Amino acid sequence: MTMPLELLTLPCLSDNYAYLVHDAASGKTAVVDVPEAAPVLAALARKGWKLTDILITHHHNDHIDGVEELRAATGARVSGAAADAHRLPPLDRPLRDGDTVMLGASVGRVLDVPGHTIGHIAFHFPDSALVFTADSLMAGGCGRLFEGTPAMMWDSLMKLAALPADTLVCSGHEYTASNLRFAATLEPGNPKLMSRIARVAAARAEDRPTVPSLLSEELATNPFLRAGTPGMKAAIGMEDASDAACFAEIRARKDRF
Ligand code: ZN
Ligand code: FE
Repeated sequence: MTMPLELLTLPCLSDNYAYLVHDAASGKTAVVDVPEAAPVLAALARKGWKLTDILITHHHNDHIDGVEELRAATGARVSGAAADAHRLPPLDRPLRDGDTVMLGASVGRVLDVPGHTIGHIAFHFPDSALVFTADSLMAGGCGRLFEGTPAMMWDSLMKLAALPADTLVCSGHEYTASNLRFAATLEPGNPKLMSRIARVAAARAEDRPTVPSLLSEELATNPFLRAGTPGMKAAIGMEDASDAACFAEIRARKDRF
């Protein structure tokens, strides 16, 4: 058994997050996504950590804009999806589904989670119960389908939903309050959703991040993960439809919300 990784959640830009993960035994430190370099460099200095790895989830600017500045400042190795190498900063290590990234003795497994973009990947560190999902599974929601199909995103979400329920979901944006407002239009009678809405409002009132979130909480309150449940199917009037069709309908409603 390895020592759990230390996690730091770093607000960036207006509503993005970068995450620092540190392995105390080896001194290795990774950042997942770099919306901008300054908050990451400041956190590294504050903790006295040396950045060894930059892990990229997908090609959107608000996740990669700080990569080159951070690489130049730290010499860290840059890893991201091989499938998106043509539209990511130059990759020192192109990654494919099932590949592993090591942080000291901690293993991070690469998961393909297409939908928001085709080359979107997630990083799962099972020994620390952490998964970095960026704009695939989000707190109370999921990313918009800019490139993939609903069926693709549904498969990606089900992959993530199958991880241990005590996994911490580290997602890319502070969208939780509006995501849950939408969720409440579908499941106003879900008590776990209502109590989550209250907790999220309290956190935001104090300017605290609402991420990471527990996967168990997502399973209980995130309407996109609940697309396959009889209750959600009834709520949208699609009792006899497939799970993926219900997911597509919920995603379409969120786009109009
Ligand atoms: Zn994105
Ligand atoms: Fe994003």
